[in-house]
Amino acid sequence: MTTIASNLQAVRSSVLDATLAAGRHATEINVLAVSKACSADAVRAAFQCGQTRFAESYVQEALNKMAGLADLPIEWHFIGPIQSNKTRVIASNFAWVHSLDRLKIAERLSEQRPANLPPLQVCLQINISGEESKHGISPDTTLTLAQAIARLPNLRLRGLMAIPAPSATPDAQPFAQLRILRDQLNQHGLQLDTLSMGMSHDFTVAIAEGATMLRIGTAIFGARIYPEEIS
Ligand SMILES: *Cc1c(COP(=O)(O)O)cnc(C)c1O
Repeated sequence: MTTIASNLQAVRSSVLDATLAAGRHATEINVLAVSKACSADAVRAAFQCGQTRFAESYVQEALNKMAGLADLPIEWHFIGPIQSNKTRVIASNFAWVHSLDRLKIAERLSEQRPANLPPLQVCLQINISGEESKHGISPDTTLTLAQAIARLPNLRLRGLMAIPAPSATPDAQPFAQLRILRDQLNQHGLQLDTLSMGMSHDFTVAIAEGATMLRIGTAIFGARIYPEEIS
């Protein structure tokens, strides 16, 4: 657990360096701690170091973990693939969803968002590298979907999320593309303030291209011990 504290400190310091190097202000950038495959104790340790936003990819794993952390005011973000039979639990237990890529799912989340909670904050996941097997919508169909989702009463469309295709060295181009797409959507009257991009190996590049939410797992919690395909 002392490793988590020192990892967090190192991440914060690298994030700050990259932020200042990009001529940006520290308040523009939030770190989400991606806690998939981590224990509730690991999340608690990070929380005790001042980390309040956590992200999970698998619904059941997240619910199990949340049960042991109900005493902490954590802001939970959902970043994994969304099955339609899971929308109710997602709408009830998360503050944000980053991985929205279908109108039908968005409609269900809006309908099922409990009335006592603020609107669910959402990002559209964009398939920025055009990989066939990847989740996310293609950039050219984004405007239509974004306009439809922006009208749903219990969702608040905040921005765009992307996971670029793996590359040997971090590549700025997909991040720049996501920023340009966000700016184009805003020219059509949308008000998107969020770019959810940048992970452990490429957050410096993402910050230089305008990221506002970094999703960082390994650099905080260490290497995950199970394959990401697990659900
Ligand atoms: C696992 C995951 C991350 C974190 O990746 P790291 O390389 O461990 O920082 C970020 N975003 C998504 C969508 C993920 O599934």
